[in-house]
Amino acid sequence: MSRIRSEKRVDVKVGFSCNNRCLFCVQGRKRYDIGDFTTKEIQKKLEESRKIADSIVFTGGEITIRKDFIELVRFAKGLDFRIIQIQTNGRMFAYKKFCEDAIRAGANEFSPALHGHTAALHDFLTRSRGSFEQTVAAIKNLKSLNQYVLTNSVITKSNFRHLPELASLLVRLGVDQYQFAFVHPVGTALEYFERVVPRMKMIEPYVKKGLDIGIKAGRRVMTEAIPYCIMKGYEDYIAEKIIPVTTIYDADFVVENYTEFRLKEGKSKGPECRKCRYFRVCEGPWREYPERYGFGEFIPVRK
Ligand code: SF4
Repeated sequence: MSRIRSEKRVDVKVGFSCNNRCLFCVQGRKRYDIGDFTTKEIQKKLEESRKIADSIVFTGGEITIRKDFIELVRFAKGLDFRIIQIQTNGRMFAYKKFCEDAIRAGANEFSPALHGHTAALHDFLTRSRGSFEQTVAAIKNLKSLNQYVLTNSVITKSNFRHLPELASLLVRLGVDQYQFAFVHPVGTALEYFERVVPRMKMIEPYVKKGLDIGIKAGRRVMTEAIPYCIMKGYEDYIAEKIIPVTTIYDADFVVENYTEFRLKEGKSKGPECRKCRYFRVCEGPWREYPERYGFGEFIPVRK
């Protein structure tokens, strides 16, 4: 099954508490410095969101560890959102009853994160023992309940050589869609830059092999934050081409158009990029990458 959307989507952050401590977390210290929003604050964001979108993604932090999780999903359902997606580390969905309750409340898409094909690798990256076992159990539970499951895996120095094995595992688990996202070097990932950020040229063959496995199995596969010049031959799988217009309700600000934000502030292109046939459509890498490693790997694709 594949879902291609063109509708407006809103990402609502519920706060920053989480039961994982990922080495590459983009939220950094926000769990300590900002914490979580109240039920009322989130409900207000949901009401505002409904005026501009019919698709909602709950993000964080980790929404499933909140006491009001089911209440918030039910509230979104009451507002008649067509898609209610839960972005999650997946651990709580290891409990089948928890999955059933979420589905009954109105959640209809689940986006758990799996970053390694073994417990040793995934748990090393999440810095949470037992997280692999729970996230894998979660995917199995959700698929057994016929839910749409789209996973996200962050590409880091530790796991990029194992992306093909991870892809095979995801296919075996029956996920509908998986995405490999290049680590965004902000927050904790910036703090541990040397440990977590791999070189683009090194990850390329593994990313492509990982995509091939899903393509062959008929799954929807995507990459995020890897420019076209690295993804030659796989341009159709670049997520930025199809990410719907997204508004993000963050901690104390609203990003009205995330695509525009990525282009203006998040990503950057080098002086040579103007010569590239993809200059107009390419967003370039996250700007922190060339700030450290330069633009040498990004060779313009001839027009
Ligand atoms: S515009 Fe720059 S970063 Fe993007 S594909 Fe072309 S050379 Fe690569």
